[in-house]
Amino acid sequence: DLANMMDVPVTKVIGTCMSIGIMVSINQRLDAETINIVAEEFGFKTEYVSAEVVEAINADEEDNEEDMVTRPPIVTVMGHVDHGKTSLLDNIRNANVIAGEAGGITQHIGAYNVKLKSGRRITFLDTPGHEAFTAMRARGAKVTDIAIIIVAADDNVMPQTVEAINHAAAAGVPMVFAINKIDKPSANPEKIKEELAKMNYLVEDWGGKYQSQEISAKKGLGVEELLEKVLLEADMLDLKANPKKRAVGSIIESSLDKGRGYVSTVLVESGTLRMGDIVLAGTHHGKIKAMFNERNVRIEEAKPSEPVLILGLNGAPQAGDTFNVLETEQEAREIATRREQLQRELGLRTQKMLTLDDIGRRIAVGNFQELNVIVKGDVDGSVEALADSLIRLSTPEIQVNVIHKAVGQISESDVVLAAASNAIIIGFQVRPAVAARRQADKEGVEIRLYSIIYDAIEEVKSAMEGMLSPDI
Ligand code: GDP
Repeated sequence: DLANMMDVPVTKVIGTCMSIGIMVSINQRLDAETINIVAEEFGFKTEYVSAEVVEAINADEEDNEEDMVTRPPIVTVMGHVDHGKTSLLDNIRNANVIAGEAGGITQHIGAYNVKLKSGRRITFLDTPGHEAFTAMRARGAKVTDIAIIIVAADDNVMPQTVEAINHAAAAGVPMVFAINKIDKPSANPEKIKEELAKMNYLVEDWGGKYQSQEISAKKGLGVEELLEKVLLEADMLDLKANPKKRAVGSIIESSLDKGRGYVSTVLVESGTLRMGDIVLAGTHHGKIKAMFNERNVRIEEAKPSEPVLILGLNGAPQAGDTFNVLETEQEAREIATRREQLQRELGLRTQKMLTLDDIGRRIAVGNFQELNVIVKGDVDGSVEALADSLIRLSTPEIQVNVIHKAVGQISESDVVLAAASNAIIIGFQVRPAVAARRQADKEGVEIRLYSIIYDAIEEVKSAMEGMLSPDI
């Protein structure tokens, strides 16, 4: 089929497969990765059907420069447990109620939008934490413009602080540091800044580029200043969207409500979502019967960066799924059905992420530039040594990036990050947690375990040279 599509002899396709180390027969199914590589060899680009479908949906709608308007930034709060994520989000939500906008924020719908004294708006994802953030990113959602990294000043930069920073960095999301709990007598913000500096995250008053703000989430101190800094960051990003088209966005959360049927909170990325629109989200669809904002007020439309609860879908799409608006219900149903079929088919063959084996093959055809790795180990010294050695394997053609390194067991969070960043996980003298192993199998993430640093380095090196023995 592939040979036919490209109009080349089938023997050439088989030959190409063999040249990259894959022995195939004429009627064998190829995985998506191999198809990509082979097609590229013949000068073709491949696209997944589902992606093609989504693109087609909006192909007729181009953005005119004059239609682009500034949209509020979408912000996620991340940090170590108990450092104050929830308190900060609550404070912002409640302070806003006092500021007297129509109706208090009474509902937790997964996100909320607040207006500051300056009149500008910010949208907060109400499900804090880097796990949720990266899980959504793994599904293709780009629902965070800026991350607030919160660190308690009476504590230290903790393992999950480091994780949060690395998750945000891997996604290329700018960070603003909130140094919390400064009302406590034991608070020592300078110590936190020093610890950040040691990780190469220099805050502004230490001469660096990262904005930071000392706050007390509990007492509301410094929160306004923090939000102003977030807006400053937003200005630099120049966030714009075109409200004059059919809406596109992401699912934030979904559930089945006893009285109302399936309810989903969606975040509009561009376009305007309206009552009665026909929505397609993942493998579900439906006509919007009602829309509510976070103040439980019925609304008729939602503009870019506005979170809204919608009623009327025929199921519960997953957080991070993209949604689109279509012309007819029939069209929506057809695409949903096709996606379901595709998903079932993909489910049969486990969708594989990058493995060390693939690397050599892809390098051989020259379409590989970056190798992302996550390094976990039993002691700090070996983690640092291994990470350094791996980075030093970089060549002019291939950059090795250590996107996260830490002491400890391989966790689910590591696997989710690997899936979202197409990374492999290298464990030194550590094992994956049971749940992490299960997750890795499901996502097709490769975990490689070593007990000798030299072995780890040699294997990655061999893979990069295209010489890894194929049996491992
Ligand atoms: P999360 O786990 O990051 O969501 O942290 P929480 O917001 O639940 O906060 C953990 C604990 O720290 C709670 O007991 C909060 O009351 C307390 N806390 C949060 N912010 C502050 C603060 O600014 N000052 C003080 N003194 N306590 C705080």
